[in-house]
Amino acid sequence: MTTARTGRPALRLLTAPEYEHAAPAPLVAFCSHCGARPAHPPAPASSSRVCAACGLGLILESRADVAPKAGDAFLVLDRSLAVCALSRGAERLLAALEPNAVNRHVTDLLMPADAEEPDGTSLSTAVAWAARGDGVTRTSVVRPANTFGIRLTARISSCGPPRAALVVLD
Ligand SMILES: [Zn+2]
Repeated sequence: MTTARTGRPALRLLTAPEYEHAAPAPLVAFCSHCGARPAHPPAPASSSRVCAACGLGLILESRADVAPKAGDAFLVLDRSLAVCALSRGAERLLAALEPNAVNRHVTDLLMPADAEEPDGTSLSTAVAWAARGDGVTRTSVVRPANTFGIRLTARISSCGPPRAALVVLD
């Protein structure tokens, strides 16, 4: 067998993708309200991080593989699980307006879809970890808090600045 002759070098080849995975993921900028990705993200010291496309959202950054696209439904939440931003897509999906949603607890808008987690523990835990910037992407099946019968996949990861949790809904 080939593997018997080549031994460890063959094993190293097999593990190569893990090294690629460990490399820092590229960051992309996006608007917290419309999801537009500015061609030139503002410098961290810039006085204005307001989105040029909609004039409502702030420009945040997240890993490219988890960042929302323009029009996506997503929320930004802080460490206390309070809503910091609700995208235009999420306003439509959750039948809520951002000014009314800001500072509300995550479970005022989203609930776990599975009945065995009525208190929202796993969703809340995932949001809390992401808001601390632990770099792990988690998924959870949720429903709008005000609607039964709708199941959404929530992809929970980190964004900032300031460090916050990003919840993208499909
Ligand atoms: Zn915008």
